Amino acid sequence: MPYPVAHVMFFVFCICAIAVYTIFVALLRRDISSRDIRHLLLLLFIGAFFALYPDITAGYNIIVNGTLEHTLIGPIPTHSLLFSSFALLFGAIIGYMLYREFGKAVYMGLFAESASLSHLLLDDLARGGIHYFYPISSRAISVFSYMDVGLACGNLINYMLASYAAVFYLIAVMMMALFALNHLGFEFRYRSEK
Ligand SMILES: [Zn+2]
Repeated sequence: MPYPVAHVMFFVFCICAIAVYTIFVALLRRDISSRDIRHLLLLLFIGAFFALYPDITAGYNIIVNGTLEHTLIGPIPTHSLLFSSFALLFGAIIGYMLYREFGKAVYMGLFAESASLSHLLLDDLARGGIHYFYPISSRAISVFSYMDVGLACGNLINYMLASYAAVFYLIAVMMMALFALNHLGFEFRYRSEK
């Protein structure tokens, strides 16, 4: 289990690396208002909260049960695609409360969802064994451990498929975050050479 701060930093500095670079450049050029800074801090706070969302039961279990259990609500795993999908809903509700616009609410939902999925991604990298497909399957799997040549048993096709799955998982989470940010005030575009 990575530390909470690792989840937040992974989402902000790795998944949203281009956004961090954009903010950094704007700050250096002093091309950013205090209103923009407040908006960015709010986005970062929402991203950080949802990057920790699958561990949301940790506080409850420490206080009520006196354990460090952080992956279950009763018998239900919180580290699953199903549980993560609620981040989309909660993020959209927060987005609607902030912007009063349906479109921006959806993009905030996608941003929250990417943060929540980045949590599963980092936990998978750190210790493996995520119940991604609960309740369809209760089997804990690790997308990243399948990339290992040894686990693919020398079968080149298995190895390639497993590698693609892990890379596409990572790309999907990053693209979701950047797509959302692109509609929440960021501009990522190619500048044509004159
Ligand atoms: Zn976790």
